[in-house]
Amino acid sequence: MFKKILPLYGIDPVVCDVKAFGDGLINYTWSVITGSDRYILQQVNQNVFKHPFDIDHNISLLKDYLDTEYPDYLFVAPVKDLTGNSLIHTEEGYFRMFRFVANSHSFNVAEHKDEAFEAAQQFGKFSRLLNNFEVQHLRATLPDFHNLSLRYHQFLYACEHASAERKDKSSELIAYLLANKDIVETFERITDRKEIPLRVIHHDTKISNVLFDAQNKGICVIDLDTVMPGYFISDIGDMIRTYVCPVSEEETDMSKIEIRKDYFKAIYDGYMLEMGTTLTALEKSYFIYAGKFLIYMQALRFLADYLQNDVYYGSGYEGHNLNRAENQLTLLRRYLETGEQLKALIDG
Ligand code: ATP
Ligand code: MG
Repeated sequence: MFKKILPLYGIDPVVCDVKAFGDGLINYTWSVITGSDRYILQQVNQNVFKHPFDIDHNISLLKDYLDTEYPDYLFVAPVKDLTGNSLIHTEEGYFRMFRFVANSHSFNVAEHKDEAFEAAQQFGKFSRLLNNFEVQHLRATLPDFHNLSLRYHQFLYACEHASAERKDKSSELIAYLLANKDIVETFERITDRKEIPLRVIHHDTKISNVLFDAQNKGICVIDLDTVMPGYFISDIGDMIRTYVCPVSEEETDMSKIEIRKDYFKAIYDGYMLEMGTTLTALEKSYFIYAGKFLIYMQALRFLADYLQNDVYYGSGYEGHNLNRAENQLTLLRRYLETGEQLKALIDG
């Protein structure tokens, strides 16, 4: 495969060093070193992204805009091959290549609140610089990705069609999700009444999608496949979900799930430093809601998958998705319990 792809970029595969790279879960990623040049080569996961040219379309529109409006901003777009293509389609799949951002590294988990601050600032900066970009020009690379209303109906459908055994094992979690349906209703109000604007949203704000320098200052955001029109609650919500809790959704010891209030404040401070004067007052009023929205949606998705025999997320052990759902619902419960304290942190 490399023998075919690399020459398209003028790189001789014989004299370069290609190695699998990073811990990305979605795409296949390699580091390519040739002489003094270093690149990241990626094969797009077509099971997830059905129309890779939509991703390419979005990234190139944003690149043109940012190059004109903010030429100093580091926007990691794919490089072009010798014939000017930034996405290559062969019988083996879709490929693109990026310049490796020099002296950068990423983290798989936020282990210090300063990392949460830096990451939130980078995601905020990204949306701020694109505030005047006409968002309707972007394509939905994952249609309905964060449509909580649709996810909720899919969950109800899964409940109806689940086996008696799986439904029985999920009964407490199902009841908790139904009891917190107001989170879905709030989402429906926000979207039906167009209360808050559609913006250019990253939609995958985990910490590994930010590059840091040697002093652990944020350099830029990467992994732009899910950049599409959306609401700021998606980006804030996934940061809250994944930085505020010290353990991931894979943790089975629920006593380790906690709300690190200082990380929450760091996300707020980092994001607001960039977006504080751009977000509307109504958007700001949904800052804490963003965490509820994303954590609830993730729990809903894990439980729906468990009820549908693990067809989407797969399962490494019996009850894997049930555990993930319990984990996320434990996080939601603790988040809801801490709500007033979080509010005091950002009001004061
Ligand atoms: P995910 O699981 O987040 O969906 P992915 O499979 O889409 O990941 P990326 O996040 O794009 O893959 O890349 C995986 C890792 O490769 C990143 O976390 C980062 O460490 C590294 N990486 C990607 N692009 C670059 C780049 N241009 N320069 C330096 N490192 C990079
Ligand atoms: Mg990534």
